[in-house]
Amino acid sequence: MTDPEVIVVGAGPAGLAAATALARAGRRVLVLERETEAGGIPRHCGHYPFGMREFHRLLRGPDYAARLRDAALAAGVAIRTRTTVTALLPGGRVEVTDDNGHATLAAGAVLLATGVRETSRAARLIGGEKPGGVMPTAALQGIVYLNHQRPFARPVILGSELVAFSALLTCRHAGIRPVAMVEPGPRITARSPAIWLARLMGVPVHLRSDIAAIHGRARVESVTLTTPGGPLELAADGVIVTGGFRPDAALLRGSHLEVDTASGGPVIDAWGRLSDPAYFAAGNLLRGVETAGWCWNEGRRIARAILAALEGGLPPREGARLHLAHPALRLALPQVVAPAAGAPHDRLQIRLAAPARGRLRLMQDGRELVSAPLDSLPERRLSLPLPPAGTGDLTLTISEAP
Ligand SMILES: Cc1cc2nc3c(=O)[nH]c(=O)nc-3n(C[C@H](O)[C@H](O)[C@H](O)COP(=O)(O)OP(=O)(O)OC[C@H]3O[C@@H](n4cnc5c(N)ncnc54)[C@H](O)[C@@H]3O)c2cc1C
Repeated sequence: MTDPEVIVVGAGPAGLAAATALARAGRRVLVLERETEAGGIPRHCGHYPFGMREFHRLLRGPDYAARLRDAALAAGVAIRTRTTVTALLPGGRVEVTDDNGHATLAAGAVLLATGVRETSRAARLIGGEKPGGVMPTAALQGIVYLNHQRPFARPVILGSELVAFSALLTCRHAGIRPVAMVEPGPRITARSPAIWLARLMGVPVHLRSDIAAIHGRARVESVTLTTPGGPLELAADGVIVTGGFRPDAALLRGSHLEVDTASGGPVIDAWGRLSDPAYFAAGNLLRGVETAGWCWNEGRRIARAILAALEGGLPPREGARLHLAHPALRLALPQVVAPAAGAPHDRLQIRLAAPARGRLRLMQDGRELVSAPLDSLPERRLSLPLPPAGTGDLTLTISEAP
């Protein structure tokens, strides 16, 4: 396709859902994907549960990814794999690199749906030697599901958010028996029923604990934990470091587009528009890990905004700026809030940096617009309705419980 009306960067659930909806509405859509196949992260997750919201059935990740891909192709979407977008230029022009070299492509609207990156072990300041066998979940899943290998037999899992349980399921699939899950906080970060999976698999969960050091020369041989009962030495041959996901915003940082220092993703308005209104964003690029179903739905909703933009039916991109005014708040979006009936972001999405209890409050000019009780851990999904706001800046804060 040489003259797309919409370019989508990233063929994960968000990008493919948006592309399919736009093509079904009669638009010429080109999806650019750097991997050899479209489908995003679910391609690497050979376990359930994917697809309930989208296809009303329980699917494994790769089957789910294939369905998304097939639906996009059937709708008339053109998908170019092994094509990496290397730069975003003003007005909806993107530079790409593929086997044939470099090129610049242009479209009336560009949707960014590049997902997340996992932070490295070094970024999490784990001490000890640097032996082989220490990896994030996505690398484990690539080795297990794509290469059909077993990188270790008895690893320690650090973290307890949604993706840590995805790591557990991957271990079970490969016949790997984790020796422990380790969580620095007092509760697991995922919703509490998830702990039953660890119990069913006979994996001890150490709360208020952390990895103090990883030992071994060529391979991991043991791991020292700090626990409430004192240091604990575990014989282990690997470490899976989960969580610490951040938007994959490398493209944004080198561009003219405004980046939100809090989320690490783009600054958007309620229509999912960036500071250059030719650009939109959806999926995990906005905030870190959500479920695939959430990202798929977000992609579909942003497609509606893109359609309206192509038809000249979106209001100008202006509105009140949102500020975070409590250290336990990590991010909130959209960061530009305007009266926007029918906009895809009709609620404020919020994440915490630290556990907090009390009341979430959205304020304008010293007046509370909306509030809700709060008792949450970091990484969990939180939201507030977006009320019609005046022109003054908005402040999101927490009144802590005594
Ligand atoms: C390890 C792991 C396990 C998970 N397990 C589950 C689960 O069991 N159930 C569930 O519901 N959710 C799960 N999730 C969450 C779910 O997979 C993601 O939320 C979902 O895939 C996000 O969709 P997305 O479209 O935003 O991004 P992604 O799926 O990450 O897709 C982004 C795509 O963009 C491409 N890309 C990035 N940069 C460029 C570029 N410059 N040029 C071209 N292409 C580019 C990437 O190659 C990728 O294919 C898991 C997530 C992780 C990380």
